[in-house]
Amino acid sequence: MSSVQAPTRHKVVVIGSGFGGLFGTKALRRAPVEVTMLAKTTHHLFQPLLYRVATGILSEGEIAPPTREVLSGRDNARAAR
Ligand SMILES: Cc1cc2nc3c(=O)[nH]c(=O)nc-3n(C[C@H](O)[C@H](O)[C@H](O)COP(=O)(O)OP(=O)(O)OC[C@H]3O[C@@H](n4cnc5c(N)ncnc54)[C@H](O)[C@@H]3O)c2cc1C
Repeated sequence: MSSVQAPTRHKVVVIGSGFGGLFGTKALRRAPVEVTMLAKTTHHLFQPLLYRVATGILSEGEIAPPTREVLSGRDNARAAR
């Protein structure tokens, strides 16, 4: 008796949750791969708005959403540390 296995999808590891990492992961949304985004932090820092935090206009959380939240709803991507 032979067993038939479903084809395994390629695994892609993206290092970093900055602009490059996020846009790279999003670009693979419909690709037949499983993406793991490895990062030092658990959030994506939107650097262009740092000055607004420094000047008290925004809070840290408003420019640094959790990476898991940013990637939620994506079937083929997950964040890890
Ligand atoms: C104050 C400020 C304002 C800016 N304003 C603008 C602007 O108005 N317009 C504009 O176009 N650009 C702006 N930039 C530049 C823009 O933010 C950067 O060009 C952009 O963030 C670079 O993206 P990146 O993905 O290459 O790097 P980053 O966004 O720096 O991401 C690198 C990621 O890799 C992770 N990482 C690093 N080392 C490791 C490791 N060893 N293991 C795991 N993870 C690791 C980091 O934690 C980070 O998540 C600004 C930058 C700053 C600092």
